[in-house]
Order: sequence, then C-alpha cells, then structure tokens
Amino acid sequence: SQPRPRLPEWLRIKLPTSDTFSHTRGLLDELKLHTVCESAKCPNHWECWSKGTATFMIAGDRCTRACGFCAVSTAKPLVLESDEPNRVAEATRRMRLKHVVITAVARDDLHDGGADHFRQTIEAVRTLNPGIIIEVLTPDFLEKDAAIDTVLSANPHIFNHNLETVRRLTPSVRSRATYDRSLSVLAKVKAKRGDGIHTKSGLMLGLGETEAELFTAMEDLRRSDCDILTLGQYLQPTLKHLPVVEFVNPTKFAEYKTVAEKMGFVHVASGPMVRSSYHADEFHLPEGS
Ligand code: SF4
Ligand code: SF4
Repeated sequence: SQPRPRLPEWLRIKLPTSDTFSHTRGLLDELKLHTVCESAKCPNHWECWSKGTATFMIAGDRCTRACGFCAVSTAKPLVLESDEPNRVAEATRRMRLKHVVITAVARDDLHDGGADHFRQTIEAVRTLNPGIIIEVLTPDFLEKDAAIDTVLSANPHIFNHNLETVRRLTPSVRSRATYDRSLSVLAKVKAKRGDGIHTKSGLMLGLGETEAELFTAMEDLRRSDCDILTLGQYLQPTLKHLPVVEFVNPTKFAEYKTVAEKMGFVHVASGPMVRSSYHADEFHLPEGS
C-alpha cells in the first residue's frame, strides 16, 4: 500500500510538557479504565492528559461495529463490569475534572445497547463529584427509545452523538450506522428534553466530502435541533483505515465556524485538531442549567 503522506505542519503533535501525563497514565492503569484518548489514538492525547482531561470509554474496548475511520478494535465484547461506574467516578474525582466526557463502544450485543451502564456511570460520577458537568458521547442505540430514555433519566448536561460524515460517504465510513438514524437520535433527545439538555454532534473533514455536502450536513443537524457542533480533520489511525483524501486548511476551518454560527449553532469548535471532546469544557452552560 501507499506510504502515508507527511502531515502538514499544523497537524504535528505537541509533545508532553508536564508530569501530569504520567500521573494520569498511572491512575488510569490502577483503576483499569479505558480512554478514547488512547484507544482512538487521539492526536490531542498529550495535551489533554497534561491538562488533566480525559474521555472515558466505558463498556469495554471491543466494539461490535467496524467503522472505517476508527481505531477501536472490533471483537466480541466482554461482559459489563458492574464496578466500572464507580471506577470512572473515582478517576474523575482524583483528576479533579470539572467537565467529564463519558463514551462507549457500540454494544449491539446488549438489548439496551449499554444504555443502563451509561446511566449508572453518570449517576456514580455525579454522586462523587457534585456540580460536575457531564457530557455523554453515545452510539445510536439502534434508535431505541427505551435506551435513549434510560440515558436521559440520569440527566446528562450534554448529549453528544456524532454524525461523523456527510450523507453520501456514510455507508463507506460508518458501520451499521445510518445518516438518518443519527439525525433522528439527536432530534429525539431534543424533543424529549427541550432546553433541559444541550445536544452536540461532530463531523470529520478530509474524507472526500465536498463543501456543499458539508453545509447540507450542517443544515441537517440544525434541522434536528443540534446545539453544538465540532468539525475536525480526519486522520488515518493505521494504514488499514480509510485514507485521508484532503488535509483541510486551518483557514477553511475558521470559515466553516462562521458559517455554522450563522446557521444557529450556539457553540462551534472547528479546527484541524478538534475532536468531539477537545476543549469540551470551553462550552459554558447558561446560568441555571
Ligand atoms: Fe469506533 Fe464505530 Fe465502534 Fe464507535 S461504533 S467505537 S466509531 S467502530
Ligand atoms: Fe481525549 Fe478528547 Fe482530548 Fe482526544 S480530545 S485526548 S479523546 S479528551
């Protein structure tokens, strides 16, 4: 296969600058927790950990799906660990997080897609960390209402579900997920909770989408009442994953942020290194949320 192209200068990863990194690594090892930062080979790994931020991946590190962009391994998942919610809560406390992101692999093997495990984790985190902002980044739960209701019953502040890419590319980029189902999950969450929740979604750029297709996807998200948008550069985690079609220039990302704000998104993070959870704490909830 072709060697990977050299990354443009704006995508080179910054090296760690503090020993908070090794402290965080040790803490996660001790509590046997998985983070997206590692499993998805996130390019912000060093920066976020140095600042004491992490995105916890619950329900195991084996996914029932196999998306072409994702570095999480596809395998038969293990049984859920009943003490995992408490371990996430403990790690959150020790890391003194103010904003925690909880995500999970797609557990299509479970009747509720892992929704109750999300609920338990949110509740455990809140009990041990009063006042913390809790963001969930969920799979589509095959759009089951009962599963969505279960997660919402624990009152997360932010409900994030990524659309990932434009309609045309969805079948080749995502596994089992559909474009319309993801939009529908976001719309349902908003319809169920209204102003009581902030919905959020993200798109990866550089997979071969056109600008017109990107804008349509952004409009579709707004039509589903999505409040917060993240736009970031897709990076190929290994040579077995989908190739990068284009490295989108930082000036384009800045332009897309303006376009998104005009469409009515209340908060937009757009830049080459932006990931769903990158600088997630920069979105400040309105008073009283
Ligand atoms: Fe990765 Fe896709 Fe599984 Fe999510 S559903 S963890 S993106 S393979
Ligand atoms: Fe982890 Fe999110 Fe930071 Fe990436 S952006 S290192 S996944 S917290």
